[in-house]
Amino acid sequence: PSETPPPATVGGRTLPYLNPHLPVERRVSDLLSRMTLTEKVGQMTQAERGAVDSDPSQITSLGLGSLLSGGGSTPTPNTPQAWADMIDGYQSHALATRLHIPLLYGIDSVHGDNNLVGATIFPHNIAMGATRDPALVRDEEHITATETRATGPQWVFAACLCVTRDKRWGRTYESFGEDPQLVARMETAIDGFQGTNPQDLARPDHVLATAKHYAGDGDTTYGTSTTNSYTLDQGVTITDHQHFDRIDLAPYVPAVRRHHVGSIMPSYSSVQWTDGGDGKPVRMSANKELLTDVLKEKIGFQGFLISDWEAIHELPGDYPTEVRTAVNAGLDMFMEPYEASQFESTLISEVQAGRVPVSRIDDAVRRILRAKFELGLFEHPYTDRRNIPTIGSPAHRAVARRAVAESQVLLKNAQGALPLKPSQRIYVAGVNADNIGNQAGGWTVTWQGQSGNTIPGTTILQGIEQDASHVTYSADASAPTSGYDVGVVVVGETPYAEGIGDVGNNGHTLNLSSADRANIDRVCGAISRCVVLDVAGRPQIVTDELPKMDAFVMSWLPGSEGEGVADVLFGKRPFTGKLPVTWPRTEGQEPINIGDRHYDPLFPYGYGITTSHHGR
Ligand code: BGC
Repeated sequence: PSETPPPATVGGRTLPYLNPHLPVERRVSDLLSRMTLTEKVGQMTQAERGAVDSDPSQITSLGLGSLLSGGGSTPTPNTPQAWADMIDGYQSHALATRLHIPLLYGIDSVHGDNNLVGATIFPHNIAMGATRDPALVRDEEHITATETRATGPQWVFAACLCVTRDKRWGRTYESFGEDPQLVARMETAIDGFQGTNPQDLARPDHVLATAKHYAGDGDTTYGTSTTNSYTLDQGVTITDHQHFDRIDLAPYVPAVRRHHVGSIMPSYSSVQWTDGGDGKPVRMSANKELLTDVLKEKIGFQGFLISDWEAIHELPGDYPTEVRTAVNAGLDMFMEPYEASQFESTLISEVQAGRVPVSRIDDAVRRILRAKFELGLFEHPYTDRRNIPTIGSPAHRAVARRAVAESQVLLKNAQGALPLKPSQRIYVAGVNADNIGNQAGGWTVTWQGQSGNTIPGTTILQGIEQDASHVTYSADASAPTSGYDVGVVVVGETPYAEGIGDVGNNGHTLNLSSADRANIDRVCGAISRCVVLDVAGRPQIVTDELPKMDAFVMSWLPGSEGEGVADVLFGKRPFTGKLPVTWPRTEGQEPINIGDRHYDPLFPYGYGITTSHHGR
């Protein structure tokens, strides 16, 4: 595709909406007044790029407003140039429509531009919550925005403002923590993505952000999921209004009023009031009270609501009923990955039959177009690739490495086991010590993530090897007996995303694996000093193992820069991380949260031993 913007005229006339000198609202009104119902409904439709790739002319014929590379996407390109070429190709088809309305391209950059091999991969949000460092979170997301937009997407489905209240939830690691005030402090993420001035969005280092999943996604009641076999994910938040406002809704107020988040994704989950309503769960996609009355009217949200992936399919009734209910409840754009054509024809019929008011359609389209104008897409529809050289650069990786170091939480340190000394003979054990895929977790290259050598970066073992000359590694802790000064056992989880992390699915549980327990026994039994690191998206049950360890560190899911872990182990940087969630003694204690009446955790919320720069 050419780099030239679309013509400033249609049919020989310069139209107000194509005039960059006019105010955005004027341009939106002008464009809206020229659109047919079919064109308007097209703007409300988002398809998965894999659905149009074999015949991209569908982008033109369906007048699609948006495409995404979803978690469950078809394989995606692996170089920045190939990404940008692909997205610019789609864009040329959008610009071929009658009114030349550019496409908005969305992607899940949830810990860096994580679909791209070679991007800087940051620790997952739960680790960022442990840093208690809002400025660092802003820097992280500014880097993520820069790397993402250089490859084409102008919109990210992040940040997750989920308040995780039960660590059996498979999305716990996508949360900044269990305290809504901590989550709200980390909303500097939105500033990092979008910038703080309205003009920032049009720059090549910013993207439109999405606050998700509105609201209560992390606070569902165990065993209430009806859509699938998962027990917490996509379940029901059973609560009274006071609790909901204080815990689940609270982060959305500053996200809208202070950070002006551009879009919000309603949750798959439902809300069931214990102090009102008819006592039945209402899915968020159908929840007019929470989408329109509370979010848009009371809180004042001016951006647009994007449905989650096929979320409306879970509403009761036939497809026309699902579509009508969700549009009338307040959803503006529909992630209908493989159903774009059916969605459009259905919504058009519903409007023509008078069951969806045109005013609702106009409101939705106005919100979507506003974002496109603010992003500068009418002037610069194609990818500005100038920041491609910064992707995965040393400067970006240095910020990620600092984030890793700041996120490490020291939970026990006896006998001066830490810091390690470069002169020590160190025995390292455990698969997660040397597995960058496990260290990055879910949402890395693929939706579920993958074990193994998936992305460039350094493992924790490689970080340790850079700092000490006598390092021996054995994944399964064989022969840890020959004269070592200290053992380092790395335990943890393997990658997963969304509901699959729930207890009872695929054997995932908060309990340590038997292999990890055996490694702790063997190494801590044989070497006089032993340090255990947990590489996982959430606390694991270590109650019986803790007395065997001299030091215990929660490393979370550090991403591509394992050296950041070594930085604190060797005392080059202090331990400053604090738990963003409560650490349970047993799995049966879940849900356990600060403020509970009978609060008896292994480690309380906010715990973390702080060391000085020299590790003392
Ligand atoms: C997830 C969202 C995500 C979307 C697109 C859904 O399954 O719940 O968080 O943004 O997929 O990948």
